[in-house]
Amino acid sequence: MQSLGTYTLTNCTILTVDEADTFFARGRMTVQNGRILRIGSEAELPLEGDVADMGGKLVLPGLVNTHTHSHSSLFKNQADDLRLMDWLNKAMWPMEAHLSAERARAATALSCMEYISGGITTYADQFYYAEAIAPVASASGLRCLLAATVFEKPSVETDDTFGAATAFVERWLGREEETRVYPCLGPHAPYSVGPELFGRVADFCRKHDVLLHTHISETQDENDQIRARYGKTPTQWLEGLGVLENRVLAAHSIHLDERDMRIYARRGVHASYNPVSNLKLVSGIMPYRTLREHGIQVSIGTDGAQSNNSMDLLRDLRTGALIQKQAEGDPTLFPAREMVRLCTIEGARALDLERQIGSLEAGKRADFIALDTESPRLCPLHRSSLSNLYSAVAYAACGADVSDMAVDGNWVMKDRTILTMDCDAVRKEAQEASEYLVRHSQVQ
Ligand SMILES: [Zn+2]
Repeated sequence: MQSLGTYTLTNCTILTVDEADTFFARGRMTVQNGRILRIGSEAELPLEGDVADMGGKLVLPGLVNTHTHSHSSLFKNQADDLRLMDWLNKAMWPMEAHLSAERARAATALSCMEYISGGITTYADQFYYAEAIAPVASASGLRCLLAATVFEKPSVETDDTFGAATAFVERWLGREEETRVYPCLGPHAPYSVGPELFGRVADFCRKHDVLLHTHISETQDENDQIRARYGKTPTQWLEGLGVLENRVLAAHSIHLDERDMRIYARRGVHASYNPVSNLKLVSGIMPYRTLREHGIQVSIGTDGAQSNNSMDLLRDLRTGALIQKQAEGDPTLFPAREMVRLCTIEGARALDLERQIGSLEAGKRADFIALDTESPRLCPLHRSSLSNLYSAVAYAACGADVSDMAVDGNWVMKDRTILTMDCDAVRKEAQEASEYLVRHSQVQ
């Protein structure tokens, strides 16, 4: 629901992340009925409606996490430091087999709590139990692209993942204004979904104009498997099936060759960079510079807690930029401005929401966060220096510095108090659910 009424943020520094890099050392932003009515300097703008004194905080667009699996918060800190196949066979799949709708809800609530505490206002999710978890995502106050997973084999939820996923989309589509849940489909990956099913998913997404959220070329092993099976790279195989004629969000996108990249560029496939997950599983390093040189749009995601542990997008952003600089031997690559854009407006673009969110501009939805400038990480702060502000966000801040958040103008967190959730209950239910999974899957 969009908030009704008018209020003005004042006593804050504002980074708008618009195309012109507009910022206000002493800014004001008026929010009306969930949208930004006016944004400017304290000297220019009057105080309208209720006054929100931000105590000198740094205000910027909410962060957009373009790839995650919210159910996996229950698997956090289990079975780390393993090789991929051991990790999947000995820990992840045995635990996943004991999930239920109720446990998926507990996991989603915990993930949403972590997203909020770290400044993520919008996230692109992919998993089963979409119907069960969508109300949890909606009640958290966040904006969520919820891709119901489609898998060739039966899942823990259902024998017919396509049927469950498409029924979910049909039930939730068209209610985004009210729920902030944008339903879509998540065919898992080229190695886990066959050609006939991938084609049906693509047809459905085109017909309903919804996003197709998948994983492409995460590992070299995946490429080898697909090449052995179909004689093509995963990207060229999907192109041959007509899948890439959809709006496609492709997690990882690491092992792409020249022809794959040309296809990505021509089809407008969005690549979600998941640096910490890729480092932890030693999947490889996304060829970020080459992707950008091909005109491919890139955003950033945490991936799930089972392959990242922490949902701190600011921390991942810094890691992601630093490894690219190192890999390319070029410290000028991926500068702070670009880093901040990657986790805001470029994320919005990946989800086809850039006209609504991702920057703070009059007419857009009021999805914003504030960083606590009393944090030692944000001191000293040169409020009249754009480069200093971008650097503070990109290199110095972390999720723990986020103190306030609003989505659609509704306050979700104020002074680090989450207003939309009963956090004690969320922690208790998640703890119990995780203990159940560990006990029944005999991971420990
Ligand atoms: Zn993933």
